[in-house]
Amino acid sequence: MDSRTVALIRTTFKSVAAEDDGPEKLARSFYAILFTDYPQVRDFFPAALDAQRDRLVKAIAYVVDRLEEPERLLPFLAQLGRDHRKYGVVAEHYAAVCQSLKSALAAYAGTELWTDEVDRAWDEGINIIANTMIGAAEQETTPPVWTGTVIEHREVLRNLAVVRLRLDQPMQYAAGQYMSVQIPSRPRMWRYLSPAIPANANGELEFHIRGVTGGWVSPAMVGHTRVGEQWLIGSPLGGLGVPRNTRRKLLMVGCGTGIAPLRAQLMAMTARRSNPKVDVFVGGHYPCDLYDLEVLSQLACANKWLTVHPVTESNENPWWHFDNGEEPPEFPGLEPRKVGQIGKIVAGHGSWDDRDVQIVGAPSMVQTTKFRLMAAGTPTENIRHDPLF
Ligand SMILES: Cc1cc2nc3c(=O)[nH]c(=O)nc-3n(C[C@H](O)[C@H](O)[C@H](O)COP(=O)(O)OP(=O)(O)OC[C@H]3O[C@@H](n4cnc5c(N)ncnc54)[C@H](O)[C@@H]3O)c2cc1C
Repeated sequence: MDSRTVALIRTTFKSVAAEDDGPEKLARSFYAILFTDYPQVRDFFPAALDAQRDRLVKAIAYVVDRLEEPERLLPFLAQLGRDHRKYGVVAEHYAAVCQSLKSALAAYAGTELWTDEVDRAWDEGINIIANTMIGAAEQETTPPVWTGTVIEHREVLRNLAVVRLRLDQPMQYAAGQYMSVQIPSRPRMWRYLSPAIPANANGELEFHIRGVTGGWVSPAMVGHTRVGEQWLIGSPLGGLGVPRNTRRKLLMVGCGTGIAPLRAQLMAMTARRSNPKVDVFVGGHYPCDLYDLEVLSQLACANKWLTVHPVTESNENPWWHFDNGEEPPEFPGLEPRKVGQIGKIVAGHGSWDDRDVQIVGAPSMVQTTKFRLMAAGTPTENIRHDPLF
């Protein structure tokens, strides 16, 4: 795609995104056109579309921002295409979505902005996206969806559960990747979760799940999951993973359940003969939020290359935390816990300019930590994180 085509696509999309309610209006218009012109696709979507609308616009923005980086964008789209097989979508559904998106954008942009040249630019962009997704889906030989039976559900914190599943057949995924998950009580509401252990021959998965207040799905996963129920799991996604280069040092920063994909990578690294130095900063609001310190302590004690730095925003547990009045357990092999904002603490250690960096957690924490590190001198191209939608 040439730079003029990219510029035309970006300008029209930015004109939508720049307005306060632009993304919301665009998404509403897109779904209205799609379901009116192609009612047969309605069943692919959940009944309530509010969370879906937000994700749609963020996903388009993500792609539009990377149009000039095909080496990163095309593998991402191919993964998305393989994942979309779980809906049972075929080429004609892609055509319906593409046409509806273009109609919604054209209506929003108005005749002054939506010229013939802009129309052709969007055609070119949308075709590349759809063909990459369709091509990857058609070539894939793994199942479009896996079934996982819940074998354990443990609430490790108020509002945070560890769920273990056994898949009907093993799945190959790289430690650090994530996948979309659907639970029986929330049909068609797929949510991304990151396995906290590497892929294994028994097809076991472990997810760490925080219940988001007001969320449609995560509170049900945390509060109502029963052993024996069956979850559906889509194809693995994402570019985080253990680097092949065993000499390049690593910095990992994870908050809350963001520790899951980092811990999976650390576990995968323990199986290698040599590893570079790795510093992991694990964060939470309160000391009690650091629910996985025991495992991190075991990993740090057994592996000299690993240093784990616990960080919390508050030095005390909240009043509602029930602690039996006992002293909190001491875990060996960890650095002393620091108190403060995690991005500030990590950046306060230096520029980390010799490190490959991964940041995982809530979108606001990922952005803040990234900016702090960039300001401290970490080259942007060394910092990786998952898409924030
Ligand atoms: C790549 C990736 C990997 C992920 N891995 C995990 C994981 O391993 N474990 C895990 O628990 N979650 C993970 N998530 C988040 C998860 O996919 C859901 O977004 C989250 O559980 C909320 O879903 P929900 O249906 O409960 O909320 P929704 O109904 O989708 O959203 C309800 C409201 O909550 C807001 N919201 C959504 N997520 C958050 C959040 N994290 N913090 C604050 N507000 C939020 C929304 O903007 C919306 O306003 C991951 C997300 C991504 C993008």
